[in-house]
Amino acid sequence: MSLTNKILLGMVLGTIVGLLFNVLGGDTPSKDGLSQWLQVFVFDGLFDAIGKIFIASLKMLVVPLVFVSLVCGAAALGGQSRMGALAGKTLGLYVCCTTIAVALSITCAVLVQPGANVDLPTASNFTAPEIPSIKDTLIDIVPSNPLQSMVDANMLQIIIFSLLFGFAISRVGGDVTGNMIVFFNNLNDVIIRMVMMLMQLAPYGVFCLLAKLFASLGFSVIVDLAKYFFTVVFVLFLHGIGFYGALIKILSGLSPVVFFKKMQKVMLFAFSTASSNATIPITLRTVEHDLGVDNKVASFSIPLGATVNMDGTAIMQGVATVFIAQAYNIDIGIAGYLMVILTATLASIGTAGVPGVGLVTLTMVLQSVGLPVEGIALIIGVDRLLDMIRTGVNVAGDAVVAVIVAKSEKMLDIARYNNESLNAENDPV
Ligand code: ASP
Repeated sequence: MSLTNKILLGMVLGTIVGLLFNVLGGDTPSKDGLSQWLQVFVFDGLFDAIGKIFIASLKMLVVPLVFVSLVCGAAALGGQSRMGALAGKTLGLYVCCTTIAVALSITCAVLVQPGANVDLPTASNFTAPEIPSIKDTLIDIVPSNPLQSMVDANMLQIIIFSLLFGFAISRVGGDVTGNMIVFFNNLNDVIIRMVMMLMQLAPYGVFCLLAKLFASLGFSVIVDLAKYFFTVVFVLFLHGIGFYGALIKILSGLSPVVFFKKMQKVMLFAFSTASSNATIPITLRTVEHDLGVDNKVASFSIPLGATVNMDGTAIMQGVATVFIAQAYNIDIGIAGYLMVILTATLASIGTAGVPGVGLVTLTMVLQSVGLPVEGIALIIGVDRLLDMIRTGVNVAGDAVVAVIVAKSEKMLDIARYNNESLNAENDPV
């Protein structure tokens, strides 16, 4: 069985086991005997531990992989002047896609009216967090201590340091450049081997994560918020499959079907972990190995995308803003919607690729159009599930841009892209 199918099986079984427990034993008032034992030792004990160990093991590789891979890419690119064009195209596409994502989500939400006739809670338990200023955010991109950046897994700082480091390697010249490139390429092979080893554990990790999650998820909130929930899910699918598929076809002439087939496992990882960051090792490996994107493009665009490109998050923020405006009966008007497009694009850039942050940066969007941030309390209940689905869209968006940029820069191995028998998890480096 292929890894993708194994992960899928783990996901389905985990969901069934969790749901069964949720329905049959999880909510019984007298949680005694077997039900209590299962809750404490199996769902909150064993499954929780294995799921957390799985996510930690993925995160363990993120910083070393991004650093080493990016140094390899920048060192190889150093001699050429392509870096500027590559970075420009990547960032430009990221911003365009996100802007379209928000516009699409606002349009759908305005048509569906998910927030009409919503009962507002009398007391709200959501307090707005502090949002750093744009000036502080810009200053923060340059690391004052690169080791600290690595300790904190601050992706933008790591990207800046690695790019400079790789570029400097290419500039030293002579034996030093050659030896360092060989050294980093070897190191890269070792870390990729670690990624491949961990990928084999994914079906079990995914099973445990989903069983634990569904065992305790309250489904009644989804019924209450069905219109909001399904509007977000609909736009996520529309953008994640329809828009991305069309974009790949139109801008690169490649088959979207092949793209989605190969990206399946990455999206399943993203779905189960709800974290673009934790998924970086799998995204990077799949984009390079299965889709044939050159390391020089992938090592830059994937970690950057996992940090700044969040179309799925922006979609949730677009629908949520319209929903909250309707729930509070506030008309933000056309100018308000345009403002939402701008701020949701910025907010998604500022959203870190970890679970639940999109909801926090939503405060920025709401404040920009004068909506009450307490409105977030209305949607918090269904956000975990939406977070999982939107993270799948977030990582797919990063890969779409990597493929398009690589194709346009002639850094895509088209034969590899079309070869459907490639297996990132099995092939030797
Ligand atoms: N969980 C999302 C991600 O990691 C971010 C968010 O929308 O909260 O991509």
